[in-house]
Amino acid sequence: MPNNNKDPYHTLKFPIYDSAAFEFETSEDLGAAFDGSKPAFIYSRTSNPTVTALEERITQVTGANGTVAVSSGMAAITNTLMSILQGGDNIITSNRLFGNTYSLFESTLRPFGIDARYSALEKTTEIESLIDARTRAIFCENITNPLMSIYDIDLLATIARKHKLLLIIDNSVPSFGLFNAKKLGVDIEIISSTKAISGGATSIGGLIICYKSEQWKHVPVLQEWFKQWGDEALYRRLKKEVFRNMGSCMSAHAAWLQMLGLETLELRLERSCANALAVAEFLSTQKTVKTVYYPGLPSDSYHKLSLRMFPAGCGGMLSFELADRKSAFAFMDRLQLIRRATNLCDNKSLIIHPASTIYCEYSPELRTEMGVSEGLIRLSVGIENTVDLIDDLSQALA
Ligand SMILES: *Cc1c(COP(=O)(O)O)cnc(C)c1O
Repeated sequence: MPNNNKDPYHTLKFPIYDSAAFEFETSEDLGAAFDGSKPAFIYSRTSNPTVTALEERITQVTGANGTVAVSSGMAAITNTLMSILQGGDNIITSNRLFGNTYSLFESTLRPFGIDARYSALEKTTEIESLIDARTRAIFCENITNPLMSIYDIDLLATIARKHKLLLIIDNSVPSFGLFNAKKLGVDIEIISSTKAISGGATSIGGLIICYKSEQWKHVPVLQEWFKQWGDEALYRRLKKEVFRNMGSCMSAHAAWLQMLGLETLELRLERSCANALAVAEFLSTQKTVKTVYYPGLPSDSYHKLSLRMFPAGCGGMLSFELADRKSAFAFMDRLQLIRRATNLCDNKSLIIHPASTIYCEYSPELRTEMGVSEGLIRLSVGIENTVDLIDDLSQALA
């Protein structure tokens, strides 16, 4: 971890600067901070030293151009789309999306004239048939939740560049510990830092990681910003306008917890990838388990692609199907170690029945279309002892 600690007492852990506002020696200094001629912390909705320390660490580890930390993963998606779209624009997205993201597109953004166009994102011709003059971006999750589909990001980056679109990847599940967005030509990486980064579900947070890109110049609402800031156009518009105006800042305390999480990210990912693979292998040998979705399994249809996209491992999330809702509930209720809870990438293994929870607001027909069956179970594998995990699953399946 790079040492960017500018604390005057040289604390090894960056302190929590828990203050709404900051004081100035003179009126002139206060004015200079506002007009940007003498950058300083003014007010924690726009910037805060602890949050900035987290942002700088993320920028350093990812090789990005700039990072904006926000209050949640959903705030990261919302702030990003608000910075690049205007009414009448559209985005191409996957037909397998996290439930709240789908609701954001359909219920919240559609009335503002923003059209989300759904695709399997597998065939160039099919994706291109959805693109028109008002298309601004391709957006998808790199490992979809809960069905574990993965996409060929090289292919999506090629299509995005050809059609002057932005490529936005929600990298919440594998995180930058397992997925190199910069190398794959992603323009904007979005992360729910509530997941792996927070170090065990300590806090809610989101990250907008902006890469160096020439693509900003093709986005009408970024053109003025591009003239002034070039490569940094999106980052500057976020910081100086959209993020400031939307008011979805991360708290200093959350930023501190997430810096703590960052220190052990690599270790935790190694363990949860190994545990998830062992659990997936175990589940695939069980008679009552109809299907296991985990790209790390050699038998999985995404395995070959996963080696290119996620060479270090496919992360801790997996899904599997039992016969129906009744058998899923009975199995889940027998678990002793694995917790019945929402959330992903906790240190603890968490299990959930998507159809009755995250997707409960959708009709059975829509759920079927989304691949969320009545017997589907999502398991986020933590960092517990592998044998203990398999013992718990085994007794609950018996
Ligand atoms: C959890 C999650 C989100 C939302 O993040 P929050 O921090 O809960 O707002 C978005 N996308 C994916 C893929 C997620 O798993």
